[in-house]
Amino acid sequence: MSITPLMPVYPRCDVRPVRGEGCYLIGERGERYLDFASGIAVNLLGHGHPKLVKAIADQAARLMHTSNLYGMPLGEKFAQRLVDTTFADTVFFTNSGAEAVECAIKTARRYHYANGQAHRHKIISFDNAFHGRTLGTISATSQPKMRDGFEPLLPGFTVVPFNDLEAATAAVDDNTAGFLVETVQGEGGVTPATQEFLSGLRKLCDEQGMLLILDEVQCGYARTGTFFAYEQYGLTPDIMAVAKGIGAGFPLGACLATEEAAKGMVFGTHGSTYGGNPLAMAVGMAVLDEVLGDGFLDHVNSIGARLRSALEQLIPNHDMFEDVRGLGLMLGVKLKDDVDSRSFVAHLRDDHGLLTVGAGQNVVRILPPLVIDESHVAECIEKLSAGARSFAEAAAA
Ligand SMILES: *Cc1c(COP(=O)(O)O)cnc(C)c1O
Repeated sequence: MSITPLMPVYPRCDVRPVRGEGCYLIGERGERYLDFASGIAVNLLGHGHPKLVKAIADQAARLMHTSNLYGMPLGEKFAQRLVDTTFADTVFFTNSGAEAVECAIKTARRYHYANGQAHRHKIISFDNAFHGRTLGTISATSQPKMRDGFEPLLPGFTVVPFNDLEAATAAVDDNTAGFLVETVQGEGGVTPATQEFLSGLRKLCDEQGMLLILDEVQCGYARTGTFFAYEQYGLTPDIMAVAKGIGAGFPLGACLATEEAAKGMVFGTHGSTYGGNPLAMAVGMAVLDEVLGDGFLDHVNSIGARLRSALEQLIPNHDMFEDVRGLGLMLGVKLKDDVDSRSFVAHLRDDHGLLTVGAGQNVVRILPPLVIDESHVAECIEKLSAGARSFAEAAAA
């Protein structure tokens, strides 16, 4: 037998972390890495945050799981806090981002069904989008590497170019339920929606009774400097998928919706065995306490601006860098076409102890824990700069 016990769907690298300390990961042989990947925008409090660790330990000892047959005091409390701090009136808790998007898609379809317009099932999504790996969520992407061999996928999706309002407008027909869009595309290359594009989608939805579904699984939860990225656009969605940062490393997601948009989601229409269990809710509350605590968002904004300007200063000094993109601490450095971002990410990791993540459009994603300080910014810049120099030297040799 040659297949590995772990199904070989990931091309894993040689970093084998066994411990985390704040903004660092420690490998099997004791090697240290500055973690500016954060488990792909997940570990926003870094590793081993004492309040998070304590919340998990305390709740695990008290009550871990009960099922959704019973009342959920902690879930009610956490949902209320999300409702109080966002556009939403109601929340469904999931265990992952893809499940949150699935719930969003079901909520949108069910809304039109409840309105007696069951034919309005079509969702318009966008090129380079990433919404997860379930059959439903891969149906919302145009990327062959995610779709090939899994067809037939869920019908009722149309994919058009991102940030192209004209194309989005043209794709709307009598069967359209709404738009599914990342406020800032993550996997696709750290590309924020333009103001004109997102406002345009909001307006189309208002005019034609469609729903605006935002996927803030990656860009939400303080990553961009506001609690959610949509706040920076002066508009609100009808439905929103959240995950990654919301659990800061614990598997947790949520689908948020307005009362109107959720009107089809009545008893029996949806469910999850683990979703919203007491352990997850205790984690969610502990993370939220930090994120909405005094000065947290201010810190993300100020340290994000520091990191960004330091990255921008690298651009003229290194031929391989093209530009810096993103918002807050969701940043990307786009490399010139003749440099392969995956090789550069590997070089930074293996030769300089800096963890970053590749993204589409030849971008290196910089996704540090949101609790980094000046010393981590300086260390990242030093490693990036040295890494760019040695990478270019190796290429020239
Ligand atoms: C990561 C991600 C998902 C999927 O989340 P999983 O927890 O891996 O299912 C969905 N949407 C976006 C924008 C993401 O970045």
